[in-house]
Amino acid sequence: MHLYHRKEPLVKQDHKKSRLSLFQNTFSSSPAQIWKSRISWRITLAAFLTILTVQAAILNFELKTFEQERLDQLREVGRSALTPAIDPSVRDLLSSPVSDAHADRLISTTAINGLTVYSSQLDLIKIYGEPPALQLTDRYNIPESRRSPDGRTYDVVFRSNDLNRPFIMVARLDSSSVQTQMIGFVRQTIQIMLLMSAFVTSVLMLAMGRWLLEPILFMRGNLLEASRNPENPSIQDSPFDAHDEIGGTIALTQALIRQNAENIQQIKSSAENKIHKLAYYDTLTGLPNRTLFLQTLTEKMRAAGDSELERFAIVTMDLDHFKDINDSMGHNVGDAILRAVGKRLRAALPERAMVSRTGEDEFAVTLKLDEDIKTARMVAEKIVQVIRSEPFRVFSEDFQVRVSVGVATFPDDGLDPDHVLKNADIALNRAKEDGRDMIKEYSEDFDRAVQQRFQLLRDLRDALERKQLDLYYQPQLDLTTGRIIGAEALLRWWKPNNSKEGGTFISPAEFIPVAEQSGLIVPIGEWVLSTACAEAKSWEDLHDINIRIAVNVSAAQFSQSDLVLHVERVIAHTGLDPRRLELEVTESVFMDDVRHTIETLKRLHEFGLELAIDDFGTGYSSLSYLRQFPIDRLKIDQSFIRNALNNSDDASIARTIVGLGHSLNLKVIAEGVETKEHETFLLAEGCDEAQGYRYCRPVPSDQMVEFVKNYNGKLSSFDR
Ligand code: C2E
Ligand code: CA
Ligand code: CA
Repeated sequence: MHLYHRKEPLVKQDHKKSRLSLFQNTFSSSPAQIWKSRISWRITLAAFLTILTVQAAILNFELKTFEQERLDQLREVGRSALTPAIDPSVRDLLSSPVSDAHADRLISTTAINGLTVYSSQLDLIKIYGEPPALQLTDRYNIPESRRSPDGRTYDVVFRSNDLNRPFIMVARLDSSSVQTQMIGFVRQTIQIMLLMSAFVTSVLMLAMGRWLLEPILFMRGNLLEASRNPENPSIQDSPFDAHDEIGGTIALTQALIRQNAENIQQIKSSAENKIHKLAYYDTLTGLPNRTLFLQTLTEKMRAAGDSELERFAIVTMDLDHFKDINDSMGHNVGDAILRAVGKRLRAALPERAMVSRTGEDEFAVTLKLDEDIKTARMVAEKIVQVIRSEPFRVFSEDFQVRVSVGVATFPDDGLDPDHVLKNADIALNRAKEDGRDMIKEYSEDFDRAVQQRFQLLRDLRDALERKQLDLYYQPQLDLTTGRIIGAEALLRWWKPNNSKEGGTFISPAEFIPVAEQSGLIVPIGEWVLSTACAEAKSWEDLHDINIRIAVNVSAAQFSQSDLVLHVERVIAHTGLDPRRLELEVTESVFMDDVRHTIETLKRLHEFGLELAIDDFGTGYSSLSYLRQFPIDRLKIDQSFIRNALNNSDDASIARTIVGLGHSLNLKVIAEGVETKEHETFLLAEGCDEAQGYRYCRPVPSDQMVEFVKNYNGKLSSFDR
């Protein structure tokens, strides 16, 4: 839970603040900002140029009118100066009506610089002063005026009706003043134009800043903030009218930003929930997992502190033979049972109890003890009772589930949660070792037992290295012919010590389980196999004893080593006929990886080996595998033989096994045959072979050879 508690670091908040102020700067559009804005400049420049172009066009037009007006005025001035200079008394239509004196005065005092006089028939009569460039030649096409290209002179034509005389005159007028006037006009107009443009542009800039730039910058600020901090954007309410296009867009943007933030928050929190669930809960049952269980336990124990009053039950449990159900009925059934177990536990225990699934088929419960539930054992008993009360129904099939339960109490059995939980697990292991389907309360002795097991394992490893392991052999006899047909190799560990005898034998029943759990059984098993084969080969070579040798193989050797390869090597190395080697396996090998086991057994069988199922009748697997596996022999477990004479159930089990074996074409051997009565019973049931103290205890190799040599071939020789 703590994993996901978010604490914003201080630095981050500072960062946030500075970002906020930056953002505020961005959107309040100061005048400076307007002048910096590229878009404003572009629009303004465009507006400015447009105004300028329009005004220039207007100016151009006005200038022409202005010039024409001035020239017309000049013409009028010229005409008014010229008319009084014409002498009305001149009647000759081919002599000039302007006297030379008049002409000189005109030229020196008026704007007239020169004058050409024509008759009405366009005969050139006289030229005064600077001759006009405009010369009249075509009487049908008389121009009005002509301005010199430099604009300084203006030649105008005065017709008869302008002068009220039958003459045509062309006067050269000085038009340089018109030029100056025009320049003045242009200058003034341009000044006004510029002023107007500047004013309009400024107004435009301000309006744009207010209505366009400011809202756009505000929106940009919002978007920037949203992109930097999408989950928690600090955006202010829009001060712009949401009814116009820009204001509306801003309102829309803000809504989107807020919605986005909300979405992100939602996604994040649901992801956090999911991760939390995955990290702390078991997906199958929905119960807290081991991590959360331990965490809660820690919290509870810490809260309890040193108070003697607060005690907690810690109960761990393991479903018995769950793996069998899973393997034989499929995972769907297994999963359904696990779910149902979780449900039942949850419903049966008080609300304050924590029920957790801590492993594949393991559950753990912790509960504070009080007046009603005083001891941890009571919790365990409750658990066993709800599990056993009725079978679990899955796919309309009933499954009777049993549990092994380990019990520990805080603070009695440990002061820290790991320790108490470990002790509950030790108790649970003890319950499983002692035959499952039971409750074990933790006791300090268990610790000692665990320590002893570790010591035993260390010693066993040493013994293997120092070659202190031995093989003993126990003969197997054919009940019908009485012949010795084989021998089982059995491990013996002579452990030296300081006693009078110098050491003790340790029973394989004691050390084999430890070796199996630790994997040490693999090298031990390999040693047994090669030693037994070598011994059998030497019996054959040295004493002409041709019997089968039976070697025990643990399930762990199937799963943890390449058994076939090793057998082949040993056979090759010793030269023993593979048909003279038998492997004894227990039904537990069929519970692991069935395909791998079938494959291995088939290959061994093809290689020529015989295969026997040891301790037959005590396992749990169905009989269906008997058909699938290449088996030669069933070995009736010795417990049935031992009790056959006084327990009719065991007798009938032994009988059934014989019948079953024969119906499948298998040999049946009985072990633990101790008395003549056992033998008689087995003979009556039709059992094929026997092994037991009645004939011979397991003995060292040389004694085995002695036994075979001395045996007279008659079962009755064992009668006393
Ligand atoms: P198991 O394979 O069922 O071996 C038979 C056990 O019964 C042996 O005990 C043997 O000494 C004992 N026994 C034989 N005849 C009689 C009898 O008439 N009466 C009684 N009460 N007991 C009899 P042991 O040697 O103590 O072996 C115990 C178990 O240790 C074996 O049971 C086998 O499971 C395991 N074991 C022994 N040697 C090996 C080995 O080399 N490899 C593996 N994997 N397991 C071994
Ligand atoms: Ca055996
Ligand atoms: Ca056995």
